[in-house]
Formats: sequence, C-alpha cells, structure tokens
Amino acid sequence: TYTLGPKIANWDAERKDWLRSNPDFPSLVNGKPRVLLVTGSPPKPCDNPIGDHYLLKVIKNKIDYCRLHGIEIVYNLAHLDKELAGYWAKLPLIRRLMLSHPEVEWIWWMDSDALFTDMVFEIPLSKYDSHNLVIHGYPDLLFDQKSWIALNTGSFLFRNCQWSLDLLDAWAPMGPKGPIREEAGKILTANLKGRPAFEADDQSALIYLLLSQKDQWMEKVYVENSYYLHGYWAGLVDRYEEMIEKYHPGLGDERWPFVTHFVGCKPCGSYGDYPVERCLSSMERAFNFADNQVLKLYGFRHRGLLSPKIKRIRNETAAPLEFVDQYDIRRHPVQGG
Ligand code: UDP
Ligand code: MN
Repeated sequence: TYTLGPKIANWDAERKDWLRSNPDFPSLVNGKPRVLLVTGSPPKPCDNPIGDHYLLKVIKNKIDYCRLHGIEIVYNLAHLDKELAGYWAKLPLIRRLMLSHPEVEWIWWMDSDALFTDMVFEIPLSKYDSHNLVIHGYPDLLFDQKSWIALNTGSFLFRNCQWSLDLLDAWAPMGPKGPIREEAGKILTANLKGRPAFEADDQSALIYLLLSQKDQWMEKVYVENSYYLHGYWAGLVDRYEEMIEKYHPGLGDERWPFVTHFVGCKPCGSYGDYPVERCLSSMERAFNFADNQVLKLYGFRHRGLLSPKIKRIRNETAAPLEFVDQYDIRRHPVQGG
C-alpha cells in the first residue's frame, strides 16, 4: 500500500538526542511547549477571485493570533505529494514539518476556512501532557453513532513523536487520488452514519481508523469539546452581537468561540453546500468580530461587523507608555477584549 515515506521507527529517542545536542532550539520556550501552526491553500488562484481576498483575510487573522501568543506559523501552497492533493495534503505536510522541526513540540493544523474568533483564549496544553492528538469532537457521536462528523479535522494538534508518525502512516492509505480514494469512499460511506457518497476524505478516514482500531489509538487521543477548537460557523456567526453584549473574549466556548470554521463554504472553489453570499458575509462578520479584538489594542474598532471601515475608540495621548500595558491582552486578558 501507499506510504508517506521511509518508515521511521525510533523518532522519540532520536529527537531527544537532537534536542540535547541543540540547546539553542529548545522544545520548551519560557516554560511553554513550542507550537507551530500550519495552514495552507491550493497552489493555484481561486476559481472564484473573491476567494483569494478571503484567503488573505484568514491568514491575517491567524498571523494576529499567533503573534499575540508566541506561536510560529507555516503557510503552505505546495502539494508535497501529488497523490495526496486536496484535503489530504495536510498529512505529508504535517509529517514533513515534524521531521524538519524537531524543536517543535506540537504541530497545530488549521484549515484555511477557520478563523480565530477569540484572540485571548489559549489552548490549555498542560491538560494534554499524556496525549498526542487533540481534536474537537464528541465521544458519543464517535463510538455510539459512528457519525462522520464525530470529529473535525479542520483544527487539531499532533505532538511531535513516534506515535504521531505511526498514526499518520495508518491514516494515509485511503488518500491516494483516483481509484484508491474512490473505493475507500465507498467503505467510509457504508460504515459512517450520515456520510454522503463521495471519495475518501481525511476526516472520515480518521474517524474510521479510530473506530476500527480503538484499542490501539484512543488512549492517546483527547477528544475535546470543552471549548471550540473547531466551532461550526452556522450556529455562531449570528450570535456575535449577543456575545459582545453578554460576555468577553477569553472564554473560548459557546459564549465566545475560540475558532469559527466555515465547513461547507468553498469561497475559493466554485461550489459549496451553502450560498456563496451567505458564506462571504458570515466570514466577513467572523473576521471583523476577531479583528475588533486586535484593533482594540491600537485604539480602533470596525464601524460594524460587516464594515471594513474602522473608527477611533480612544483619544490619542502624548504619554502612550502610561497606558501601554492596560490594553495589552497578553497581560490583561479580560479587559483587553
Ligand atoms: N488545502 C490545502 N491545499 C489544497 C486543498 C486544501 O492546503 O490543495 C487545505 C486548506 O487549508 C483547506 C483544507 O485543506 O481549508 C481542507 O480542505 P477542503 O477542500 O476540505 O476545504 P474546506 O472543507 O476547508 O473548505
Ligand atoms: Mn474547512
């Protein structure tokens, strides 16, 4: 069967040695594990040109979040393995980055169509000390219903370790484009509740793997739903005004969602499950909702959640340093919102 590359068998020990002999590249920085956020989009321009503008907005949103929280970022535009084009492209990419960046402790994949909507919330990494994969989902949907939306592969974290390389190896074989992906799609549709008939996708394949080899993998998988590591946009974007009225950033859950993911919207492609106008205006709202949290640091906000125009919210001062820490969300999470 298909493989992602030469079998690597001793990564944990080799990485540990490497870290010991490269103290300038520590996997812990200021006591926090080093995190690399990885995202990307297809190599060519969008079919729908407005899609490229939204790709720019969503990468700006990710750069803002990562800058504020000391997370490194990779944007990929290439297909590292042409067999794994499309949504499968994340697998060879994650593997490549683990091997090329042994200093990174966690690789965090985030889809291009997912935005940070809580600029204050931070992933509680210490909670996952004994886990290697952190993914948003619901155990009952996974194990009782075998639902194809039990987990979401739009935003998840992998620890840089042998276990993760092994999981990627076990996950990849349904991915190769053409007859393999087509045939695998039939198996997935036959076995997963609610799955329409189409070629194998990375999300269904992961769910199927974890269901069929539960004992081998689940001990190290953290199925997270106490905050929105992934949040389905349709239930969130119309509630932003209500959230602003009642709550504040830093909560990360349904009160102030950490991530808003535009599942089923394809602003870069030519077709999707929702009308493109609804997708674009909802993405605009999510972007501005998040951008207001960033602009607040600098004394501005958008005129409305659908407006690219901004207005001043504080007067300029001749003594900026007197106030500088008051507006820094890294120091005052709640007031910063
Ligand atoms: N992706 C990529 N290169 C591609 C196709 C997709 O990097 O050629 C990434 C992109 O970030 C996208 C994610 O893979 O958001 C999932 O792909 P999919 O086609 O499922 O898009 P989505 O469902 O997120 O619109
Ligand atoms: Mn997506």
